[in-house]
Amino acid sequence: MSSSPRVSNSSPQAAPATPPVVTPMGWMHTARFLTTAAQLHHLPAMDTPEIAFVGRSNAGKSTCINTLTQQKQLAFASKKPGRTQHINLFALGKQGITDAVLADLPGYGYAAVAKMDKLRWQQVMANYLVSRENLMGIVMMCDPRHGLTELDDILLEVIRPRVEQGLKFLIILTKADKLTRAEQAKALSIARLQAGGGEVRLFSALKKQGVDEVAQLLWDWTHPKEGVPVPAPAKPPEDEPEALDE
Ligand code: GDP
Repeated sequence: MSSSPRVSNSSPQAAPATPPVVTPMGWMHTARFLTTAAQLHHLPAMDTPEIAFVGRSNAGKSTCINTLTQQKQLAFASKKPGRTQHINLFALGKQGITDAVLADLPGYGYAAVAKMDKLRWQQVMANYLVSRENLMGIVMMCDPRHGLTELDDILLEVIRPRVEQGLKFLIILTKADKLTRAEQAKALSIARLQAGGGEVRLFSALKKQGVDEVAQLLWDWTHPKEGVPVPAPAKPPEDEPEALDE
């Protein structure tokens, strides 16, 4: 006599079919290199939400990206000879499914770059910030000991129309371990005034300060709750945007 086959999912011990819990930090750690491009039209058109990291050279951008993604060499790929003036894209998402893209833009204001190269590059970058359609947020790295520089201010002007249309914006005050508590509080309040309604966070790669908060914010940006409208798509610029020059 044959017994009836077991139906495995009727067992009380069967594992529930819920997806694994994804934490913002775990999500950041899935970062993987996607592509690199010297010109805007070489970037793949994508409909995945993209967040750009910008900042003056030496502001701590590479260290911040590597700390957030917990991958020592990821953003330093952007510092390899030949790639310093490229836009480098990194994919984020569990199980190989990309649900957000990080764009590492070259540091600006580096003195040892030939003037013509600088101008050409700044135009590429300004075009990217104004016209990249899936760009939904910008993270600006700033060393609070120097504050926002003139180049940072020009960049803020370039992106202002998109921020007014709903583009997310965050200023990360890097190297916070170099400041006293009072200096941190002062830097925060100054940057909040300059961020024009955007977010500001203190960050230290050395002390791991601000890491969870920034990961959570980027997660929230790219995984909006249902019913929250996503920012309007970019309109192509009517005029060439102003170059970021010193
Ligand atoms: P980038 O040019 O903006 O990519 O800057 P880097 O990430 O290369 O950092 C510039 C310098 O600042 C390096 O010497 C880093 O070690 C240092 N740095 C970056 N982040 C921190 C930080 O959180 N604390 C301290 N004390 N130094 C940092």
